[in-house]
Amino acid sequence: MQLTRSQSLLDRARRVIPGGVNSPVRAFRGVGGVPPFITRGQGAHIEDADGNSYIDYVCSWGPLLLGHRHPAILSAIGDALETGTSFGAPTEREVVFAEKIRAAVPSMEMVRLVNSGTEATMSALRVARGFTGRDLCVKFEGCYHGHVDSLLVKAGSGLATLGIADTAGVPESFAATTIALPYNSIPAVEEAFRLHGARIAAIIVEPVAGNMGCVPPAPGFLESLRELCTRHGAVLIFDEVMTGFRVAPGGAQQRYGIRPDLTTLGKVIGGGLPIAAYGGRADIMEKVAPSGPVYQAGTLSGNPLAVAAGMAMLDELAANPSVYDVLEARAAALCADPPPGVTVNRVGSMFTFFFTSHPVTDYESARRSDTAKFARFFHHMLERGVYLAPSQFEAGFVSAAHTGEDIAHTVAAAREFFA
Ligand SMILES: *Cc1c(COP(=O)(O)O)cnc(C)c1O
Repeated sequence: MQLTRSQSLLDRARRVIPGGVNSPVRAFRGVGGVPPFITRGQGAHIEDADGNSYIDYVCSWGPLLLGHRHPAILSAIGDALETGTSFGAPTEREVVFAEKIRAAVPSMEMVRLVNSGTEATMSALRVARGFTGRDLCVKFEGCYHGHVDSLLVKAGSGLATLGIADTAGVPESFAATTIALPYNSIPAVEEAFRLHGARIAAIIVEPVAGNMGCVPPAPGFLESLRELCTRHGAVLIFDEVMTGFRVAPGGAQQRYGIRPDLTTLGKVIGGGLPIAAYGGRADIMEKVAPSGPVYQAGTLSGNPLAVAAGMAMLDELAANPSVYDVLEARAAALCADPPPGVTVNRVGSMFTFFFTSHPVTDYESARRSDTAKFARFFHHMLERGVYLAPSQFEAGFVSAAHTGEDIAHTVAAAREFFA
């Protein structure tokens, strides 16, 4: 496999872009390789600058639930282009989009649109603090909530890949507002409430963790978080930027039957364009300016192209609910029969092959994986035309565009490695 052109693009990129990439995990540092520079995508497949093609299990890190260049999304963007790319003024489309989000995720009684998952979590946390008048936030080790200053404490995703514990540039006093606890540990949360109960504004959690690799919630974990937040007057925030419209139309909260106070969405709801949202209980969301005192704004928020793409995505999913059965079946086929020494975690179409024989239930157990072996596996797969996330600590995604044939090719390539 040749990566000559990608290599030379990377060399050029490094001179003008830190590390040559606009988001850290794209650099393939964790697996010691050259990232293919991607030129196009179609369905479940992508092609790079050297003409190599791959079955894509990254799917832009989650958004592309229907694969690349879905006709309904392309046509909606085309229609929106006819009327203008941005107004910075309210439009009917935003209202309809918010109504559709609320219909699918009923706990989101009121919704505010933003441009990225990071903005959504940052804003949700600010509203939770404004609403409760408290400062502290509980998060879980290995969960990633975007690059919000105070939430970059023991975060997953690129920080886990690069072995960065806590990032430079975050004042000590910001980090001190965050209590990081082991995922799936209710005793730890109970203890935190015992010590700081009256000061905890919110618990923010990935209801299915995806940013330390895929780690499902243990039975009772989300229920207990709900119960503890209610009892102590803290706001329960489900960060469903990854899981929203991914693990069920109504997200993890539908799949597990828990109603959070606030929810953040991103990724899938943009259909591949930059959009995200936060929302929840009307009495909390009424605190957001201009109805309330918590300030949050955005020049491009509710951007017409992004809303059009997101709306087409949600309409397509609403019109074809069986998509979720297809995703489930394809992902199950991909994850069937893990070889010895590999633990597969999967929830719907989110999955991770952990290179450990032990169960992976939190960040500690995820980190016991053999990352050197993962890197060898990763390159083996890449050379056989399978594009996986270049890190042990990321979830993979199956899209509705992946065919049985794609899955069979992937499984055969993986078997070859383990043989
Ligand atoms: C991706 C992600 C974010 C951050 O979203 P960006 O759009 O990358 O800012 C936040 N939370 C979770 C759970 C995510 O997976």
